[in-house]
Amino acid sequence: MKVLANDGLDKNAVERLEKDGIYVDTTHYEKDQLFNIIKDFDCLIVRSATKANKEFIDAAKGTKLKLIIRAGVGLDNIDVEYATNNGITVTNTPNSSSNSVAELVLGHMICLARYITISNITLREGKWNKKAYTGVELSGKTFGIIGFGRIGKALANKATALGMNVIFYDKYYKNDEKYEYLPFNEVLRRSDFISLHVPGIDKPLIGKNEFELMKDGVFLINAARGGVIDETALLNALNTDKVAGAGIDVFMEEPTPNAELCNHPKVSVTPHIGAATAEAQMRIGEEIIDIVMDFDSR
Ligand code: NAD
Repeated sequence: MKVLANDGLDKNAVERLEKDGIYVDTTHYEKDQLFNIIKDFDCLIVRSATKANKEFIDAAKGTKLKLIIRAGVGLDNIDVEYATNNGITVTNTPNSSSNSVAELVLGHMICLARYITISNITLREGKWNKKAYTGVELSGKTFGIIGFGRIGKALANKATALGMNVIFYDKYYKNDEKYEYLPFNEVLRRSDFISLHVPGIDKPLIGKNEFELMKDGVFLINAARGGVIDETALLNALNTDKVAGAGIDVFMEEPTPNAELCNHPKVSVTPHIGAATAEAQMRIGEEIIDIVMDFDSR
């Protein structure tokens, strides 16, 4: 079996697959080259950079490519339906990165609540803004989690350990033994902090109307997908003090051209690194070994 890991793969996973006789190429091929060489591979592994869209599937269909693995959760860079209809199986590694994403979200929350991000900027500029940086504690605050799947639940447990009162909204999952489900608008109204953990969707879940429902001085985190928040409405909410701080790991366009958002003093930004930890990448590698071995043994 020949595997192309076009966006890279944990080196332990590469070694393990090679030991079992599987050929692994970890070169990153750009579009034209990729379309040309994909016929030589049985399996393509991607992160978010490589797009396995209709055009790619058209180049790959009828060749030996039979498996696409998304090393991570979101499948929005793969046309799953079109691939499946053309005999290519698509799978992902959904369990590996939940803890890493939840920790990054908490990092953004603390950075915003205690002015850590902006202090790093102003202190380097020689400004001692001690009086301006009286923050708030997370403990005792209501934390609304929207999308209560793997990451949402992992985050709820960590936030509870910090003394936060977790409420949640999910479109499909409503009965939880430990945490209170509330309708979407109610979570927006009651929360001091809100974090989004839904899959990528076509239309923003949070726009002008939703900001109006939120408390003044709310903190908002998005480590789900860029399109989930309307960035223009977010900038307006930051500028009118509706939102006290926003932690953003994912953007409507990546790399983001939105300098106004990135440079905003009330924003903490990271370049889509939710799953970028040694541990998550190792676990993703282990999940991929199982998927490839299982496919190879069929
Ligand atoms: P999951 O499938 O376990 O959970 C998603 C939850 O959202 C489900 O419970 C589902 O019922 C709910 N949901 C779906 N549509 C909804 C809607 N419109 N409104 C409210 N709830 C809705 O997924 P997960 O593993 O928890 O991942 C969540 C998100 O995190 C995904 O968008 C994924 O792409 C993203 N993610 C980001 C990073 C990163 O690097 N920042 C890493 C991993 C995952």
